Amino acid sequence: MIDSVDTLRRLVLNGLGHSGVSRLARPLVGGVGAILMLHRVSAHPRKPHGVNRHLNIAPAFLDALIADMKADGYEFVTLDEALKRLAQGRGARRFATITADDAYRDNLTEALPVLEKHGAPITIYVAPGLIDGAVDLWWEVLEDIVNAADTLAVNTANGPLMLDCSTPEGRLASNARLQRHLTVEVGEQEQRAVLHELACAAGVDPQAPSRETLMNWDEIAEAVAHPLVTIGAHTIHHYSLKRLDEEKARREIVEAGNVLEARLGTRPRHMAYPYGYASAVGAREVDLAKEAGYASAVTTRHGVLQPDHAKHLHALPRISVNGRYQELGFLRTMLSGITTPLANRGRMLVTV
Ligand SMILES: [Zn+2]
Repeated sequence: MIDSVDTLRRLVLNGLGHSGVSRLARPLVGGVGAILMLHRVSAHPRKPHGVNRHLNIAPAFLDALIADMKADGYEFVTLDEALKRLAQGRGARRFATITADDAYRDNLTEALPVLEKHGAPITIYVAPGLIDGAVDLWWEVLEDIVNAADTLAVNTANGPLMLDCSTPEGRLASNARLQRHLTVEVGEQEQRAVLHELACAAGVDPQAPSRETLMNWDEIAEAVAHPLVTIGAHTIHHYSLKRLDEEKARREIVEAGNVLEARLGTRPRHMAYPYGYASAVGAREVDLAKEAGYASAVTTRHGVLQPDHAKHLHALPRISVNGRYQELGFLRTMLSGITTPLANRGRMLVTV
């Protein structure tokens, strides 16, 4: 979850979306393919206008996007096939592979019918701790909390903090402040206790979002049996790995493979780093994913795939299909590759 290049995207996309510049740029920066990143795909998201709306796209938009990309020459392939194409370099036909993080139920009920229509495979990354309820979809819970309370009291290292949630502006600011508190000031493993305390004060059920929106194990087994679905690992507890010591980070990565293999009968070959941005995944995590035997690992860094990614299969960037930008022009611009160097200080080969 969570997109880090929002402002940049807005600036670039508004300027280039329909100008034709992106089409001209493609031979220079276009790359050989792209990994699309989804989260929720639903015509009925929990809070269509809320702070997490970037995590949901409409099934109709997914349909239009795949059709548009196919018309533009993209072939939709499995992640395994995408890795083979990378190894083949520039000669292969342009390809795309679809991924979805966190295993939302709507991937099965609303995305899959669209994917079936197009014969487009998807890799769904599962964090067993989210499915078992050992951890929460805290970003959704936080949204519920600031919506439910008028004021919130939080204990920070600098003393107690009172947050105003009585107005839309106050809720937005409080959400941002609490997000920082949970992801920067509080340790990953303390996050849940702090969240539950806030939820309790606001009268919010912290497990409601997971229960309402994530697949259960039966549904994941159903997904596994579908010919278009590959299940990947998303660590056990969806912790920001860089904030853990090395042994804990290793365990999160290795154990996810073990649990998914025990539950589903096949060991996942691919993984996605939780959050996937620079403060959550770096060179150490890439080495750990490699060491654990995964064939690939994806980040949330913004970028199209270049042939040289064949040497960086555990640090693959993606193109986020963002709920705030459900327009084909935006995706065309991003897929042209023109935003890749813009979002990465001039780099065309985006790794970590
Ligand atoms: Zn995730």
